[in-house]
Amino acid sequence: MNIILLGPPGAGKGTQARFLCDERDMIQLSTGDMLREAKDSGTEMGKIVADVMARGELVTDEIVIGLIREKLKGDKKGGFIFDGFPRTLAQADALGELLAEEGETLDAVIEMQVDDNALVARITARSTCGSCGEVYNDNTKPIPADGKCSNCGGTEFKRRADDNEESLKQRLMEYYKKTSPLIGYYYAKGQLSSVDGLGEMAAVKADIAKVLG
Ligand code: AMP
Repeated sequence: MNIILLGPPGAGKGTQARFLCDERDMIQLSTGDMLREAKDSGTEMGKIVADVMARGELVTDEIVIGLIREKLKGDKKGGFIFDGFPRTLAQADALGELLAEEGETLDAVIEMQVDDNALVARITARSTCGSCGEVYNDNTKPIPADGKCSNCGGTEFKRRADDNEESLKQRLMEYYKKTSPLIGYYYAKGQLSSVDGLGEMAAVKADIAKVLG
């Protein structure tokens, strides 16, 4: 089963993707994570994308489509969860073609709906474990008092450089201008389902499970 989690930054795509990986042996393909990795390891591509990401703009379709193309050739396990990809109509078309080349299908597109005020509050409060990527929130899921990650015991936590109000505004603008048309695109293809992304993590998880059956 291959699925897309679609929604603005902070909608909870990464958190839900991690649940699906654990429970359904799926593979999370987050272009944001891949780009941050390239940036941190100082590759040529990483250098090219660093400024664009810091500003909250989208990197070129060519770069992200290339990243996804490589991953689709690898192990498919229980299927792919596309998290943060596609973000433009050109990327959506390319994904359809790449899946077809691999003899795969897109089985569901799940739109995670959240209101904009909640997004800003969530994003400016979030951090992740530097070892395992577990997501924390200063208000709703604070880092444990002993300073150890509840998932892996790691003691280093990171905040994303682009999780500040200014780049967030730009990221939201990019979402509304370039990514939100995908809601209509997948609706017209009969592949769209929507869940309320504002609820408790467990409730959102249950709604997604219902969609996937
Ligand atoms: P994310 O972790 O998904 O919020 O992505 C972080 C940043 O990486 C975005 O603000 C973009 O600069 C870049 N990015 C991630 N995925 C894509 C994509 N599919 N297309 C273009 N840019 C992307």
